[in-house]
Amino acid sequence: MKVRFWGVRGSTPTPSPDDFRYGGNTPCVEVRTPKGEILILDGGSGLRMLGKQLLLEFGPKSLEACVFFSHYHWDHIQGIPFFEPLYNPENHFYFHSFPAQTRGVQEILEGQMSYPFFPVDMNTMRAHRHFDLVKEDSVVCRGVMVKVLPLNHPQGCLGYRLECNGHVLVYATDNEPGSLDHDRNVRKLAEKADVFIYDAQYTPLEYASQKKGWGHSTWREAVNIAQEAQIKQLVLFHHDPDHKDAFIDSILSETRKFFPNSVAAWEGMEIDMALDEHLKPQDQEERRRNGTRQVARVPLKIRGQLNNGAPFEEQTMLENLTLHGAYFLLENDPDPQGPLEIEFQASLDALFGQSFQVLKSQLVRSHAVKKSGQLKRGIAVVFH
Ligand SMILES: [Zn+2]
Ligand SMILES: [Zn+2]
Repeated sequence: MKVRFWGVRGSTPTPSPDDFRYGGNTPCVEVRTPKGEILILDGGSGLRMLGKQLLLEFGPKSLEACVFFSHYHWDHIQGIPFFEPLYNPENHFYFHSFPAQTRGVQEILEGQMSYPFFPVDMNTMRAHRHFDLVKEDSVVCRGVMVKVLPLNHPQGCLGYRLECNGHVLVYATDNEPGSLDHDRNVRKLAEKADVFIYDAQYTPLEYASQKKGWGHSTWREAVNIAQEAQIKQLVLFHHDPDHKDAFIDSILSETRKFFPNSVAAWEGMEIDMALDEHLKPQDQEERRRNGTRQVARVPLKIRGQLNNGAPFEEQTMLENLTLHGAYFLLENDPDPQGPLEIEFQASLDALFGQSFQVLKSQLVRSHAVKKSGQLKRGIAVVFH
């Protein structure tokens, strides 16, 4: 399974320069199975950007996906009206969550688009929509065994354990510790997981002094569960809207003192379990590259050095870009320590507000990618 984070912020979107590195969109996590099936965990504001990525990838071709909602608080559903693939009649979406009092999943989701909250109602979304109740059970979806247990949160919440191809991903957000049954549930879900995504909204001090009963957890409880359940990688998630980038950095470094293989989720972060990327925390440099990516197809000429020291030059296309770095595919396998020079063969003035042609860069990630049946290297760099 490959996991990609499109929204990591809790409670409300925070579009601010102080939140730029971790990102301000509310929860949305994309999961791809080795067969390319798509599962989506929560539909917060991050879902909008996932929609754009899917449009680029699938174009007019039809797509199918399963969407699992932890619960229906705004921060977990507010991306739905802006998720463009839902307006394509060729697409199929399977929505799963729990009933709330007398209302089912369909009625609840339609509610947020009803008059006078949104100018068009959910029936204008032409994609085929299927609604399923899950509560405390297991379902098989797109070749993934999905196990579901309730968490401790006002008005209810579900935690999900996804098992596929020998790997386990757990998504347990919006959970307050201290309820015996729910504490047991979250540990049961997390049991020996490869990647454990957990609500770490507060510091222990914030929680103890002001936030008891608000339905959220701390990084310290995340560590407790991670250790007890013997998980491999801990992902701190659902960042508090008042926690700026620098503050999340400090939470992460505290967490790593107790559980070294921890990361604080950032928008754009990817973990490919098939490539064992969950076995060690990602380089912080990688975050510099992939905070808020722009997809940009620009011809590039890359000059670098192979592992044997021989120089190479290769034409390719830019895949995406941030203010600090870029991602593209190569036939060559560059020396990770060697120099890598990128020549942009089109003007990027519109993106950067300034002209340049050639940038020196440092390779931060190189991995095998299969594209149109061909094996290539996916190369991520940060600019010097
Ligand atoms: Zn939430
Ligand atoms: Zn909530």
